Amino acid sequence: MRDPAYRLILAGQDWHPPSHMSFAVNHGKDPFTPYDNDAGIGPVLWPAHCQQGSHGAEFHPDVESYRFNYIVRKGTHPEVDSYSVFKENNGADLGTASLLKALSIAELDICGLALDYCLKYSVHDALEAGFKVNVVLNATKGVEARSGDVRETLDGFAKARVELIER
Ligand SMILES: [Zn+2]
Repeated sequence: MRDPAYRLILAGQDWHPPSHMSFAVNHGKDPFTPYDNDAGIGPVLWPAHCQQGSHGAEFHPDVESYRFNYIVRKGTHPEVDSYSVFKENNGADLGTASLLKALSIAELDICGLALDYCLKYSVHDALEAGFKVNVVLNATKGVEARSGDVRETLDGFAKARVELIER
């Protein structure tokens, strides 16, 4: 892998309490059951994942997380999900755009999981905040919780003139 010598690497990390309402088990339902509420839980319920302090919340050892300058932990409120690294699903600001702008960052290469949820929402908020956005296609993958999610996401990127790149 070529090292593009990024000025700054910021990572988002799901950091859910065990009682998180995005978890199907906390509704007594099966993962991927359709669900929606005003706090941005949905459109499906997820398997329990990324619980605070657990092995499942750690970065994969191949990710070279020692290089991260910043880690934004998200989804910490039990009743609110946060797909984007910029905003919680109820619109609450996580401060990421302000931080990047304060550091004079204007262009972002975005990668990670999942293409059709956290990455898609992050790209949307990054564009809205005025950043030039590139998506690193060989460093992301969709979860396709609903059939067509990945296609729809890529179509949305094309319309928004998001550049698809490989690193
Ligand atoms: Zn999550």
